[in-house]
Amino acid sequence: AEGAMRQMQKMDAVGQLTGGIAHDFNNMLSVVISGLQLLDKRLARGETDVQRYIDGALDGARRAAALTHRLLAFSRQQPLDPKVVEPGSLVAGMSELLTRALGERIETRIVAAAHLWRIHSDPGQLENAVLNLAVNARDAMPDGGRLTIDCSNVYVDEEEARCYDLPAGEYVTIAVADTGEGMSEEVVARAFDPFFTTKGVGRGTGLGLSQVFGFVRQSGGHVKIESAVDEGTTVRMYLPRYYGEEPGQRLPRAIDATLPH
Ligand code: ADP
Repeated sequence: AEGAMRQMQKMDAVGQLTGGIAHDFNNMLSVVISGLQLLDKRLARGETDVQRYIDGALDGARRAAALTHRLLAFSRQQPLDPKVVEPGSLVAGMSELLTRALGERIETRIVAAAHLWRIHSDPGQLENAVLNLAVNARDAMPDGGRLTIDCSNVYVDEEEARCYDLPAGEYVTIAVADTGEGMSEEVVARAFDPFFTTKGVGRGTGLGLSQVFGFVRQSGGHVKIESAVDEGTTVRMYLPRYYGEEPGQRLPRAIDATLPH
């Protein structure tokens, strides 16, 4: 049943993705078509001053090409290669990379609870997800600010779990918080959509958060956004605790049975 669930989630993501692409691609095609129609009309009337219609059509075609390139990069996404991961060490190991990626005007803090649980996840993709979130945080703080990455152990109870479509139980959260411009409710509602971006042509791809979403769901977890305009944003990933065999470790069996691995 779990395999089927996974497959459905994958299909969901694919459906969402193709819907988003079809929409954007269609917009670009209509730019090309209307440019060529205008060109056709002007040429039929014997006009020669038609460069702008050619340029317009070319621009639309180039944008469509750029879109398919991004799509290819996206679909090359690696399948998960899960390992037992200590999330605190993984995030701590990124501190130099983060300093380089974020620049000097952003003060970065990494906080990890003592005795943080382990998780079973693809470490490379988890790093990518954290980096994606950190770069979004940087973009939301053009005048500088504070980035906090907080790793904690949490218990998700039945009620909360239902909201996240997860089994109740023990999770590690990795929260990436910024003191940036925040997001309106409308932006929060669409933020995980593939190709949704507010960053303007050439700057944002709109694929960062949808990749994070896909990765976290595939890992059996959840990701949510808490944001207030002009105050900041926290993106919180929930990843299921890993109960591995370890010499001398007592296994909390009651919860173990309900958690996917
Ligand atoms: P991109 O960064 O390429 O725009 P994402 O999928 O990563 O694509 O993000 C989608 C949108 O969500 C962004 O364009 C931005 O509007 C919003 N967003 C994401 N992270 C943050 C953040 N930390 N603060 C404010 N807005 C954010």
